[in-house]
Amino acid sequence: MKFSKVACEIAESPTFALNDQARLLKERGEAVIHLGIGEPKNKTPLAAVLAGAAKLTSGEVKYMPADGSLALKKAIIRYTEENYSRQVTPENVLVTNGAKQSLFNLFYSILNPQDEVIILAPYWVSYPQMVKMCYGRPVIVTPEDGRFTPKIEEIERAITSYTRAIVVNSPNNPSGAVYPAKLIQEIAQLCESKNIFMICDDIYHKLVFDGITAPPAYGYTNKDIDETHIVVVNGVAKIYGMTGFRVGWVIAPRTLVRVMANVTVQTTSGVSAVSQAAAEGALNGLQAIVEALRLQIQNNREIFLQELRTFSGARLQPPMGTFYALPDFRAYNHDSVALSRFLLEKAMLVTVPGKEFGMEGHIRLSLAGSAKDVTEGVARLKWALDPQSPNEIYIGDRRVVRDWL
Ligand code: PMP
Repeated sequence: MKFSKVACEIAESPTFALNDQARLLKERGEAVIHLGIGEPKNKTPLAAVLAGAAKLTSGEVKYMPADGSLALKKAIIRYTEENYSRQVTPENVLVTNGAKQSLFNLFYSILNPQDEVIILAPYWVSYPQMVKMCYGRPVIVTPEDGRFTPKIEEIERAITSYTRAIVVNSPNNPSGAVYPAKLIQEIAQLCESKNIFMICDDIYHKLVFDGITAPPAYGYTNKDIDETHIVVVNGVAKIYGMTGFRVGWVIAPRTLVRVMANVTVQTTSGVSAVSQAAAEGALNGLQAIVEALRLQIQNNREIFLQELRTFSGARLQPPMGTFYALPDFRAYNHDSVALSRFLLEKAMLVTVPGKEFGMEGHIRLSLAGSAKDVTEGVARLKWALDPQSPNEIYIGDRRVVRDWL
């Protein structure tokens, strides 16, 4: 059988294999701890449940406008005004099936074959794959100083006449880095002056710690919403823990939204009416839930930092936002896929290899679970890797002895 070359070149994710293996181990009754998944454990906000349920029980679940219901768009517009101090109209908003589809649709709508998109490492796994699926070329910029924040000169050096966009994900998955205002300003000005899209994936923008804020790029342009090359992607998945509803959105110039809306019409016809109603409920409901989630994650991060202090071989740049941390484990193993596999087999601990995010030698740990998971997860890491740690541990009810260090 013959298949599409582009489709067949989509990289297989080692994470899926690891997750499968973890599921099998769990089914066998092993006490697996999952520090792999980027998903908060909170229940869906009540306002979202009620709004979604009301839509469902109305029995009026029909096709919606492909670019999103006006009611949800109004809630998104208010959110944008409150959080970005930016006035936008319904024509500047496109509702999609998760932020993921916003990003894919964006790449599809702005790229011609061989056009380049600059992606800043460490990066979320899907960006390079999506760019390739749209016949574009991902150009990865990796900070030379080994830190998680690039310098503007490094980005400038990567620009060619084919560059169409720079993806900026701050707070960053997988590192938890929040880019400084100066860098956001420099990228925004660079993009505006060169007519390159600055795609701000702001899905974690409210999940920041220690009273800091993630500076929005809109603050650094004088251009009108229909003229600016700054585009913002957001969604309900992370800040409300509504991953399963699959609702995201893009704020962009209306000309771009129109093109993207046509792509939506011919592919998905938009987002389920029930999910849109639930997202509207979340956006219009009590926002204390976001702060509660943020505090819980911040608490997990404190526990994580505390536990990691006594772990001499793991080097960490402390996360400033999101629910991830990306410690450097090169003191133990340079091959992150092998290390993740080892941690699962020996310590029943699910992690994600840094290789997936363009940071070999690192491991991504999710702090989105319970404080107990984080504490026990780090204890297992230490036990598996650090010769200074006691060589016996309990994994569930099973007492296990380390015999490899
Ligand atoms: N961007 C980033 C940086 C993410 O981490 C994720 C989810 N892991 C997404 C986008 C996709 O979000 P959604 O679930 O809304 O599609």
